[in-house]
Amino acid sequence: MIEGRPLPEPDEDSRPFWEGCRRGELLMQRCAACRRFRYYPRPMCPRCRSFESDWARMSGRGTVYSWIVAHKPVMPAFAGLVPMVVVLVELEEDPELRLVGNIRGCRNEDVRIGLPVEVLFEDVGEDVVLPLWRPRPD
Ligand code: ZN
Repeated sequence: MIEGRPLPEPDEDSRPFWEGCRRGELLMQRCAACRRFRYYPRPMCPRCRSFESDWARMSGRGTVYSWIVAHKPVMPAFAGLVPMVVVLVELEEDPELRLVGNIRGCRNEDVRIGLPVEVLFEDVGEDVVLPLWRPRPD
C-alpha cells in the first residue's frame, strides 16, 4: 500500500466495475439498447441516449495503444515509483475501449505500441483492487 495514494471512490455508475475488479473480473458497461460498450461508466449511452445498461465480462486481453514514461511524480505519494510507465490499453473486444493503467512484468524500455497485454488485479488496500497490465505471450 502506498501511503497517501488517492483511491477510486465508486459511485452508482462505476460500482459494478470496481466490484468486478475485486472478484478478478474486468467488466465493461454495455448499452442495453444499441449493445455498444462504453468506458468510463456513466448513466446514459453517448450514442443512442438510452439509460438502460448491463455489464459484460471482458477477456482481459488487449494491446498497448499508447504509453508514456512519467519521470516526475504527479503526487508526492508516487515519488518512489518514478520513472513509471503509464499505458493506454485497447481491449480486444472493442477498439474504443481504452483503459489507462500501469504495467508490470516488463522493463520500461520494453513497452511499445502494439504490445499484447493481459489484465491482472492488484489489491491496493482499503477494499480497492486496481486493474493493471502485463505482457502476454503471443
Ligand atoms: Zn446505446
